Amino acid sequence: TMQSLLDHRISPSPENYLVWFSYHAGTHPELRDALDARLAAQGRLEQADLHEMHARYCAGEPQAQAIGQVSRQLEAALNDAAGMLGTAHDNASSYGTRLEGLTDTLEAAFPSLNEPLRRILADTQALCHSSRTLAQRLAERAREAEALRAALHEARRAAATDALTGLPNRRAFEERLAEALGRATAEQAPLCLLMFDIDHFKSVNDTHGHPAGDAVLRGVADTLREWARPHDRLARVGGEEFAAILPATCRGAAAGLADSLRRAVAGEGFIIGAEGQQLSVTISLGVAQLQPPETGEALLGRADAALYDAKRQGRDRVALDMPLMPEEPAREDAGAGEPGEARPLSWR
Ligand code: GH3
Ligand code: MG
Ligand code: MG
Repeated sequence: TMQSLLDHRISPSPENYLVWFSYHAGTHPELRDALDARLAAQGRLEQADLHEMHARYCAGEPQAQAIGQVSRQLEAALNDAAGMLGTAHDNASSYGTRLEGLTDTLEAAFPSLNEPLRRILADTQALCHSSRTLAQRLAERAREAEALRAALHEARRAAATDALTGLPNRRAFEERLAEALGRATAEQAPLCLLMFDIDHFKSVNDTHGHPAGDAVLRGVADTLREWARPHDRLARVGGEEFAAILPATCRGAAAGLADSLRRAVAGEGFIIGAEGQQLSVTISLGVAQLQPPETGEALLGRADAALYDAKRQGRDRVALDMPLMPEEPAREDAGAGEPGEARPLSWR
């Protein structure tokens, strides 16, 4: 795949690699036919062609794994290539040095062989020169491979990051959720998922304009980052929807944390214009605790359903996937009910 990308002068971005890999692996006959047709018609492929092929035939696949795997393979291949090129460079250099040393020794030991020695010396020098040129070319290739590796690393980071807020995007979130679920299950530790959505966000855009809406989204993301603990995993999972994976956290503690986030957002004035105008928004939050052996999708569905409940019950509140039992530890301010009673399912 790599060789073929280079032969066709296509940059080895994860997206291009995926298309080209599918082409060679024959996993998408329609993709192969379409690419062959385009190659036959144009003689070469433009970036726009690959982008189109990717969108048409590769999107909607388990992209996170595919891109991650492809990037890792490509990086390993490039590292191997860089290593081999480095070794070849070293060999070429030491070969040249040895030849030079040998020439000196011969001249000193056999002065009568002046004439043939001069020829040998000239040949040696020519050889040294070409080996030096080769070594330089190899070193250049190694630098190019290193630059490619860095570009790939950056492409991978960009593919996992939401450009507006700098938070991990939905694709990255799903990977992290799967990891966190695996760890929680292995360690038999509790885990909660928190989902939240900005209330009446459409009217922020309608009233103040889309750039103001973007500023609020960035502000909410900043508040979320400030609120989170070091091992919490955050993401922007949709337009104005965010998520936090809370490892080693029970439902009661998560409910208290969720409410503190709700208050932090509500208490913030987000700057939405050059003149420093401020705007406040509220959020509705849903909390669900992992019930092994459920899947990440099921957990997400329950957190989403709780979020929907919080909306339905009037917004600016936290809702749980199920009521807190009296014996479940919760922060005092997290929806304390009557003693001996299950606490309410949502509150503010
Ligand atoms: P609710 O309280 O029920 O959540 O109401 P809402 O208005 O927030 O919900 P709705 O889903 O109808 O609106 C979400 C809006 O978010 C619509 C869309 O234009 C806006 N939005 C999504 N992504 C972005 C973005 O990146 N920037 C901006 N400015 N707006 C966005
Ligand atoms: Mg929404
Ligand atoms: Mg909303």
